[in-house]
Amino acid sequence: MSHDVKNIAITGGAGQIGYQLAFRVASGQVYGPKQKIRLHLLEITPALSALEGVKMELDDCAFPLLEDIVTTDNPDVAFTNADCAFLVGARPRSAGMERKDLLLANAEIFSVQGKSINANAKKEIKVLVVGNPANTNALIARENAPDINPRNFTAMTRLDHNRAVSQIAHRMGSHSSDIKQLIIWGNHSATQYPDIRFCQNKGKTVINDIDHDWYIKNFIPTVQQRGAAIIKARGASSAASAASAAIDHMHDWINGTEEKNWTSMGVMSDGSYGIEEGVVFSFPVTCKNGEYHIIQDLEIDAFSQEMIHATNKELREEREGVASLL
Ligand code: NDP
Repeated sequence: MSHDVKNIAITGGAGQIGYQLAFRVASGQVYGPKQKIRLHLLEITPALSALEGVKMELDDCAFPLLEDIVTTDNPDVAFTNADCAFLVGARPRSAGMERKDLLLANAEIFSVQGKSINANAKKEIKVLVVGNPANTNALIARENAPDINPRNFTAMTRLDHNRAVSQIAHRMGSHSSDIKQLIIWGNHSATQYPDIRFCQNKGKTVINDIDHDWYIKNFIPTVQQRGAAIIKARGASSAASAASAAIDHMHDWINGTEEKNWTSMGVMSDGSYGIEEGVVFSFPVTCKNGEYHIIQDLEIDAFSQEMIHATNKELREEREGVASLL
């Protein structure tokens, strides 16, 4: 095996998001067009046959960068020497299941995977958790991987970020690439706070050109509830856009964010903005040389404080719910 091949693990490889993600990763969209990669796809045992179908399709693409595809139901195989991991597979809520039961069922999965990452992956692995509740699942995986830098466990709020950018671009009659410095604060859930106070359109602050009523009554709930709106329209949850955001998150973390812009990532709080250390919280970040940095010293007004407090409270309650596994 060549040393310059990157090993990329994807859990839930036969699921809706996994099915989109695997092909984009295999085409080189995370590490770029010169980096050879090996895919490690993990599934639960009953889904191994479907996963074999995914592998056959990946083979049929004859991707120039794809050296090998490993399919398995064993986390220890999936995470062996992994350079990065997308933790997508998670237990969906079934009829009659309480939120707390869902939290615990997933906590179990992510504690097993955290331990396996600790034992098998490269020490500098970058982990992105997509499976919900993503922030708390990332916290559990991290706490079960004591030998890995805790900064290397992150949760995805990039889809929320991209959704918000797109909404603002439409409102401004602009293009999403012109919209910079937007922020998603907090949890990847309906309590998240999409903040446009520092957002710019073609280098100009947008807040004064945006109707405050539209911002509060339309924009914020639209971003918070976009997932439900897609389920209603499509009859299935968002999958391609979630996979696209996962690629964006990992790509920017590895390769850096663009000049004069930032993005949103769920990362371990270092106490910034009064968020208790350790909680996995979405902050505005820049990335450089494979590291992310939380943007510091942004002014937090009373409204923002209230919104940040609400999402922080929810995350702390989630953490309480899984305390036995930490
Ligand atoms: P999806 O691929 O649609 O979703 C996977 C996870 O991503 C869910 O937890 C989902 O949360 C979450 N998610 C996060 N953001 C989004 C978003 N914006 N839109 C939609 N989903 C989002 O689920 P499937 O059921 O199709 O596939 C899951 C696969 O995982 C199955 O094949 C299953 O067998 C596998 N699995 C693998 C495990 C493992 O590898 N050990 C463990 C458990 C399951 P939400 O449910 O809230 O939408």
